[in-house]
Amino acid sequence: MGELNGSTDTSPEGAHSLDYDVLIIGAGLSGIYTLISMKQLGLRARIIERGCGPGGVWFWNRYPGARFDSESYTYMFTFSQEVLDEWDWKEHFSAQEDTLRYINFVIDKHDIRPDIQLNTEVKSARYDEATRSWTLADQQGKRLSARFLINCLGPLTSPTLPSIPGVADFKGEAYHTSRWPQDHPVSFEDKRVGIIGTGATGIQTIQEVAKTAGHLTVFQRTANWTAPLRNSTISRDEMTAIRANYPEIIHKCKTTPMGFMYEADPRNALETPANEREELWETHYNQRGLIKWVANFKDIFTNQEANDLYSNWMANKIRARVNDPFIAEKLIPKTHGFGTRRVPLETGYYELFNRADVKLVDVNDTPIKRITAGAVETTVDAIELDILIYATGFDALTGSYEEIDYYGEGGVTLNDLWKDGPLTYLGLMAPGFPNMFNILGPHQGTGNIPHAIEYAVGYVTRLVKHLTEANITYVVPDQQGVELWTKHVFECTKGLLSANVNSWMTGYNSNKKGKAQRRVVRYFGGLVKFREQCEDVAANNYRHLVVK
Ligand code: NAP
Repeated sequence: MGELNGSTDTSPEGAHSLDYDVLIIGAGLSGIYTLISMKQLGLRARIIERGCGPGGVWFWNRYPGARFDSESYTYMFTFSQEVLDEWDWKEHFSAQEDTLRYINFVIDKHDIRPDIQLNTEVKSARYDEATRSWTLADQQGKRLSARFLINCLGPLTSPTLPSIPGVADFKGEAYHTSRWPQDHPVSFEDKRVGIIGTGATGIQTIQEVAKTAGHLTVFQRTANWTAPLRNSTISRDEMTAIRANYPEIIHKCKTTPMGFMYEADPRNALETPANEREELWETHYNQRGLIKWVANFKDIFTNQEANDLYSNWMANKIRARVNDPFIAEKLIPKTHGFGTRRVPLETGYYELFNRADVKLVDVNDTPIKRITAGAVETTVDAIELDILIYATGFDALTGSYEEIDYYGEGGVTLNDLWKDGPLTYLGLMAPGFPNMFNILGPHQGTGNIPHAIEYAVGYVTRLVKHLTEANITYVVPDQQGVELWTKHVFECTKGLLSANVNSWMTGYNSNKKGKAQRRVVRYFGGLVKFREQCEDVAANNYRHLVVK
């Protein structure tokens, strides 16, 4: 592992006794853009990253089949004209390896590689009231100090293993999708493979593993709605046309609520004649990408009756693709409507279950009792496996913060502050934690991730510029601001069907200690509303920020 090797002298007065002006934790998309922005302000900035390479989720999630399921040319950075001009996307939905190459291309274009410190895990971050600065300590107790701390930890960073007895007992190969080995390829050839989890990750992995595995068993607890991705390669001519269209694509992504090229159809499904409704759904079904989710009739997301219409229509698509009606019914979600959880996309997923070498085990019917040295034991049999894959998701949004001991003013810990749920101002700052900013943290506007990052980083950069130019060395939200923001975040969930469904987006994680329950951890207001809120604060002299 690397180490923090700066001065431990955080003695008072002036930024120059500190090691840096800005320390950034995490070298994913947020960290990279933050570093570029801070350097453009002329500040001394450094990223601390625990991985052996940059890229964040696209570094860690190298499981088979990992790729974008948003169109590549919408799910990218837009701040650099040079990168827009020079980077060619190979596929409509970029594969993980190519995305990681893209991220490294951005890094090298901006010459920031020397400012990214790898193999260094931040264990604690402590605010020092005397020097108004942060000190980070790594796994060896080495320290670095800076005026500002910017957490770019990512919302889906801390993988969770299932709380099933015997997880540690399995003697075959076992992998969590988010910690896929980098030092050796994994071959499924002639192997008996099992996979637990059917979220977006599980569905991508299943499709790839099924191509070569001897036999594949899919352990499904909750069926998810999934619909065709329709990926294809991008020819040179097509890329030229896409690039010519960048201004329009980017404008759409910057102005639609979820940050995609598509926005909801302004009509209500319930007020649209059945033939027109189904015509739209059929058109979307035959198009690539998340259009089938994001560009739907607007009442699909708020009205159960409208959602039922679409869900039933989608269920018939599944029935038409799966030969065995019993299996088809198992694959049709019964606990939530279409689009009330993050919709994974697929290529031939349902047809896999027509094969004799792919078996679906519904763990609601036959729960997993335990994992043994060579098998997954359900209540009816022991399924022997050579490889077991956990696609069991993440301790989303707050999990990555819990891994670091943050100490704010008066030694208060962030874990204590957030024990009953996140408390933030604009999702960007936390009370009692001065000079600390969170990018993509809980209660912050999100949707299309790179666009959400560009806005949040841009906002923090403007604020830091304002503070440094005014020689302000202390900024923290006041209690009233935090209360108002928290109330606003809760209000944004009202009327949304998705707010009443268990998923990582509603803070539900059955594998964490304690009773699993839904929590408001995510901002459901969309990017447009989020930006309006933040701009209003900036226009009012950064209302509810206390500065010194
Ligand atoms: P996830 O959506 O949380 O799915 C985890 C899966 O594991 C669920 O099917 C869950 O079942 C199952 N599971 C967890 N614990 C279990 C247990 N003890 N027993 C049985 N099943 C268990 O996680 P994910 O699939 O990694 O996706 C997370 C997010 O990452 C996605 O929603 C998406 O935002 C992002 N992602 C993006 C892409 C992309 O851009 N292409 C690809 C992959 C992921 P339950 O549903 O019953 O809990």
